Amino acid sequence: MKIKFNKIYKSNKEKKYIMDVLDNHSISGDGIYTDKVIEFLKRKYSIMNILMTTSCSQSLEMAIRLAKVKEGDEVILPSFSFTSCANSILAVNAKPVFARVEKETLNIDINSIKRLITDQTKAIMVIHYGGISANIDEIMKIAKEHNIKVIEDAAHAIGAFSNGRTLGSIGDFGSISFHSTKNITSGEGGAIYINSEGIDKNNADIMHQKGTNRFEFLNGNTEKYVWKGYGSSFCPSEILMAHLYAQLEDVEKVTEERLKIVKIYNKLVEEFKDILFSYTKFNTESNGHLFYIFFKDLDKANKFKKYVNNKNIDVRTHYVPLHSTEFGKKYKNDFLNYHLEDDIDKKLMRLPLYPALTDSEIEYICKEIRNGFIYCNTSL
Ligand SMILES: *Cc1c(COP(=O)(O)O)cnc(C)c1O
Repeated sequence: MKIKFNKIYKSNKEKKYIMDVLDNHSISGDGIYTDKVIEFLKRKYSIMNILMTTSCSQSLEMAIRLAKVKEGDEVILPSFSFTSCANSILAVNAKPVFARVEKETLNIDINSIKRLITDQTKAIMVIHYGGISANIDEIMKIAKEHNIKVIEDAAHAIGAFSNGRTLGSIGDFGSISFHSTKNITSGEGGAIYINSEGIDKNNADIMHQKGTNRFEFLNGNTEKYVWKGYGSSFCPSEILMAHLYAQLEDVEKVTEERLKIVKIYNKLVEEFKDILFSYTKFNTESNGHLFYIFFKDLDKANKFKKYVNNKNIDVRTHYVPLHSTEFGKKYKNDFLNYHLEDDIDKKLMRLPLYPALTDSEIEYICKEIRNGFIYCNTSL
């Protein structure tokens, strides 16, 4: 048996909707499938304002600009995160300030945030790792006290919640990814949720429409559209939105199937928790985006990986903490101790997790994962 790390979900409706666009509509953006996607997300997840984008990276950059983060400002984010998070901060010449993550969830650590806040802090960027919520209520409280904005990077988190609220809808901004590595996809794609009343929605529309008031024009409120301010091209093609809509209609089914597998893996690794530093705990509000195991010991991690790879099971490590990369080390802040993040990129492994896994494949993975644990724990 050969087990791939990921296979994208297929709903069988993608072709039908894409053909509908090709046969009956314009393939550029802001058409009926964009509207369908936005209405779906608004209704299902109680989101006030949504703009679709071509990626979560673009959504993060919009959020940083809309939060009015400027040159010299500081933005706190976990070092264990994706490059796009830090890049969005560099895009406006602000400074990424790296925080630690907590052991239980690998989400940003609250104490770390408290220690890093200065007069220059303009925003906190929160990643909901693997679709499991960060301690968002506590973060919102700290942000209010200091009058700073919260940007939720909910790239992993479509269909995931915290106390009934959809992830991405709680901070001032939420940023979603529909990249093909995520639960629901248009290949490339994203969305930005604009949640707080204090954000100039008109400014967001202008930024989204290449710096023009084209939205007013599309709504028939002006005869022509003109340059109004800073903007860029964030708008996804209708072909992408047709693909996305076909998948979104199945979001609950996808989540359910993923969580079923998470539950099985969770039970399996519980037996071996003495050799693990942490691992994904089953959580009914999560979306089963990923399942990770984090070894205490580097040698055991290497042995485990070698064993399961030999059994043709593709397990993957994850982010190299940004402060420990050659480019990122200039943003290392020395009063923080990063021991949790040391070697996390070699000690953390994600298991194959997607709805297309068959029962016999899951059985095979579980058998060999167990053997891998035993092997790395007993061999010299
Ligand atoms: C995937 C991912 C992104 C980037 O998403 P794109 O849509 O590919 O730009 C950003 N942040 C996190 C945490 C991600 O996992």
